[in-house]
Amino acid sequence: MTDLRHTYTVCPHCKRQVVALRGQQNARCVEHGTIVPIRSAIANPPFAPVPRRPAA
Ligand SMILES: [Zn+2]
Repeated sequence: MTDLRHTYTVCPHCKRQVVALRGQQNARCVEHGTIVPIRSAIANPPFAPVPRRPAA
């Protein structure tokens, strides 16, 4: 579960969690591409697979 008291490495634009390698200044956001991550609580859930819609 996401612990809001904890800080994570997130995209500064959408506050989604990103993975930044140790010693690396950039990380990759699914939506914003290469970004400089910040340490913050996560404000948005990660992108989820698009739910399937049954054909109408
Ligand atoms: Zn982003």
